Amino acid sequence: MDGNIIDIKRFSLHDGEGIRTTVFLKGCGLRCAWCHNPEGMDGGISLWYLGSQCIRCRACLGVCPSGALSSPDGEEPFIRIDQGRCVKCGRCVEACPTTALSFDGRRLSSAAVAEIVLRDRDFYRQSGGGVTISGGDPLVQHRFALEILATCRAAGVRTVIETCMQGPWEVLEAFLPVTDSFLVDLKLSDPIMHERFTGRGNTLIRENYRRLAAAAKDLLTRIPLIPGVTATEDNIRALARFVAESNPGGRVELINFNPLAADKYRLMDRDRSFFRGMKPLGSEALDGLYGILAEEGLKPVREHRSRAARA
Ligand code: SF4
Ligand code: SF4
Repeated sequence: MDGNIIDIKRFSLHDGEGIRTTVFLKGCGLRCAWCHNPEGMDGGISLWYLGSQCIRCRACLGVCPSGALSSPDGEEPFIRIDQGRCVKCGRCVEACPTTALSFDGRRLSSAAVAEIVLRDRDFYRQSGGGVTISGGDPLVQHRFALEILATCRAAGVRTVIETCMQGPWEVLEAFLPVTDSFLVDLKLSDPIMHERFTGRGNTLIRENYRRLAAAAKDLLTRIPLIPGVTATEDNIRALARFVAESNPGGRVELINFNPLAADKYRLMDRDRSFFRGMKPLGSEALDGLYGILAEEGLKPVREHRSRAARA
């Protein structure tokens, strides 16, 4: 079947062991205020305009067959896109001399994605790597993701998914037979804070976590450290206790805040006020939070894997 992807990144050293190919799928069940891949939130493919790259040549305006582009005199942004009228023909993208216009994803078949992944089979074998399905979140286009994983598995490639677990248990459960390792995110213990900063409560996520911890062969829990939001002692303590209950002695990695996220929002002409004044935690603060994990009997994982912005 066909699905929408943001990108496929070969020779990735993040998101799992060894050399990996990471497939970023479109669509996510959460709307985290700090999302590093905001182009992955929506499942559809949209046309984007980057005003900072536009030289105002107007070349795009003359080629659109559906009247989706306009340039109201004297108003910013210089080019306006009516996404409802855009038929995704790509003519404006081709006509634009500066890449100020681009699509935030593309449509591919699961077979085509798997074929790209399998090109690097020898590297996976030598390094203990494989394929990681990320996003967005694999639960949104789950049938597409399952087809990719099943093909890779059948070819002897180790499989990993990264998920926030916001979806029906039956969907998450369907990944068990084709996934060697699950990288799962927990963000906030307090349900009201969770809803405020991710757009959803955390009841379903917590229930899915409990079930997955009991069923998965390999599980790494990851907590993004967002200064003043998730990176507080109270939150880390509460999450650590929750993990210790359902996954005693489980591995937990803290993902330090990555300031590149704010740069990405700037490049995309998006509001980045949420990130104002935020900095990665220093080593002393990190040590303190990792110490909480150890106190709760968990295995702190503090290697290399910052969840870097994709671009
Ligand atoms: S992709 Fe095609 S339809 Fe959409 S704005 Fe560009 S030229 Fe118009
Ligand atoms: S073609 Fe590109 S650079 Fe020219 S006006 Fe359109 S978006 Fe701007």
